[in-house]
Amino acid sequence: MSFLNQSIETLPNMNAKRAKVLEEQLELTTVQDLINFIPFRYDDRSSVYKINQVQGLPHSVQIVGVISATTVVSGRRETLRAELRDGSGVLQLIWFKGIYYYKKYLQAGQRYKVYGKVNEYNGQLQMTHPETEIFTDSESSQILPVYKSTEILKRHYITQKVFHKLFKYVIPKAVAEIEDPLPDTILKKLTLLDKQKAIQEIHLPTDRKQLEQARYRLKLEDLLFFQLEIVQKEKNRKAKSEGYILKKVDLLNEFYENHLPFALTAAQKRVIREIYRDLKSGFQMNRLLQGDVGSGKTIVAFISMLIALSNKKQCCLIAPTSILAQQHEYSLQKLGSLLNLNFKLLTGTSRVKERRNINEDLQLGRIDCLIGTHAVLEDWVQFKNLGLCIIDEQHRFGVAQRARLWKKGKDKIPHILVMTATPIPRTLSMSLYGDLDVSIINEMPKGRIPIKTYHCYEQRRRQVYEFIRREIANGRQAYIVYPLIEESEKLDYKNLLEGYENICKIFPHLQVGMLHSKLLPEEKEEVMQAFSGGELDMIVSTTVIEVGVDIPNASVMVIEDADRFGLSQLHQLRGRVGRSHHQSHCFLMSGFKLSEEGKERLQTMVETNDGFRISEVDLKMRGPGDMSGLRQSGIMNFKYANVLEDGLLLNQARELAAQILEEDLTLSKEKYRKLKTHLRKIQEETKKWRQIS
Ligand code: ADP
Ligand code: MG
Repeated sequence: MSFLNQSIETLPNMNAKRAKVLEEQLELTTVQDLINFIPFRYDDRSSVYKINQVQGLPHSVQIVGVISATTVVSGRRETLRAELRDGSGVLQLIWFKGIYYYKKYLQAGQRYKVYGKVNEYNGQLQMTHPETEIFTDSESSQILPVYKSTEILKRHYITQKVFHKLFKYVIPKAVAEIEDPLPDTILKKLTLLDKQKAIQEIHLPTDRKQLEQARYRLKLEDLLFFQLEIVQKEKNRKAKSEGYILKKVDLLNEFYENHLPFALTAAQKRVIREIYRDLKSGFQMNRLLQGDVGSGKTIVAFISMLIALSNKKQCCLIAPTSILAQQHEYSLQKLGSLLNLNFKLLTGTSRVKERRNINEDLQLGRIDCLIGTHAVLEDWVQFKNLGLCIIDEQHRFGVAQRARLWKKGKDKIPHILVMTATPIPRTLSMSLYGDLDVSIINEMPKGRIPIKTYHCYEQRRRQVYEFIRREIANGRQAYIVYPLIEESEKLDYKNLLEGYENICKIFPHLQVGMLHSKLLPEEKEEVMQAFSGGELDMIVSTTVIEVGVDIPNASVMVIEDADRFGLSQLHQLRGRVGRSHHQSHCFLMSGFKLSEEGKERLQTMVETNDGFRISEVDLKMRGPGDMSGLRQSGIMNFKYANVLEDGLLLNQARELAAQILEEDLTLSKEKYRKLKTHLRKIQEETKKWRQIS
């Protein structure tokens, strides 16, 4: 059996029990797992501090000195105290556990190196449970890997030192078996460390410089394989998919001349040009339209539809919620009827008879545009000649669902436009939408006033209500949103109901509506229409209004228990106001008990309206693992690269991937044999993920 596949149990200083702990705590079973167990940081032990320099330092330090005395102090709790002297002062070392081990280990007169954080107690400098080692001058490495640990590991005395010893033993034997998937030509050209050396440096670093080179090489490898897959996909797509040629623009011209409700922003005009270029190119469009909340994506969608319709092709628009679908249908039909177009709504609860009608009308071409929820994807929905699909708010829409749309075209795959308000860093967008071209609306419609956001504790509630009263008296409208925690829908509903009744009591003269996911679509629509028509002053709601809802006259948003929402969600919710020339306000309500993270989230909201900034903070706080769709995207295969930090490297990897595939698209040259095998292996793993999730 190869060494890499050997169980950890067989290694020196290991036994069945320790191996089991490692498996349970860190999912480590084989030598290969160990190799992949990457230090989460490195301590620089090259600097040795003097005791008289360390008072008040916030970080751990390393001190070398001589032990002068050890005593076991008995009391409520037995402790071991030892004194360490280095000529500049005295440091007290303290142990509560392992007392007898350390009492034996620490010899008076011997030099030791200790590492830990220094505290001051009764005027004495102390270090509790320091890492301790006999000091020898012939130190090999001064950069020390630090591995993830847990309380249970510590209880079994599997310390950092144990890891260091383990790797000292394992690495020299293991590297002999590690294969480098990168061909020599690439290693030479980019002067990269080979894989064996790189792995060795990760666990047994020689010095900073070599460690950096090792990390660089391994990150680049991660990103290269990621890019090989994407670039390959792109090349295949470009090569294959022919698309409907949609050149005519009569409807669009008529709309521009007679019905345009406002002047388009320069950014809107630019993305429309980009879309038109695709539509008439003869290749199938796969485009992502990215624009912050309120930047005006809907009108761009409508105009794109007009291009398709000018060419006698049908369209569909898919939204993530029925409220949003209804609203799109309502506002687009209003625009569409100016041009005698027929827009139709389809949601999950549309009646059988209605479905039959829709189906018939679609196939006869009597419906120009079908607007709906996921129901549009169902197999019975068949078009006469579908030319363009638009998907709103993509982050709820998976790759697989997009693929279902392809089948709805007749002889060719319809053009696809995906709209999202979630601005995401380039690495992520490439992995999520690697097969999409990107258009960005980076400008808000003129006359928008930035929303003012406040974080309010309970005690200011009355002032907030007073504020709402004044705004409504001035003709504005307000939303009050309650959080939704899936674990206890009943409780949420109760919260919402109580909130609603409470609001009705506080504002007896105002018209208050309520919205939640349990309502029937007709009921939801009724509430939304009443709000949009101004019959309701206020809506008390769950997060069903989160995405897309557009009522420009609403200028106040109150979010209850705001600390329970994620940042992107708060940004989406807040985006329901600030949609007109009125000053809008957003109140984030919270109790006094707030986690540090909750506080930071709310503070971020108060400080910025910039969706891009917010999503970056969000990603930093939650990590990309939480983003839906990422598991399937292959990005989780990264062992070394960090999706947030390695943007520059990513570009380099992309270029490299492009060069390689330019030279040998199918990777069939002998020098790329290992590269190809490795790529296959990664793709298999990703596929497995897709099946699981
Ligand atoms: P989102 O990008 O969040 O989907 P919408 O398309 O809902 O944004 O647009 C937000 C609001 O801005 C809507 O009321 C829309 O009518 C309005 N709007 C869009 N473009 C412009 C523009 N160029 N000038 C003025 N108002 C605009
Ligand atoms: Mg929208």
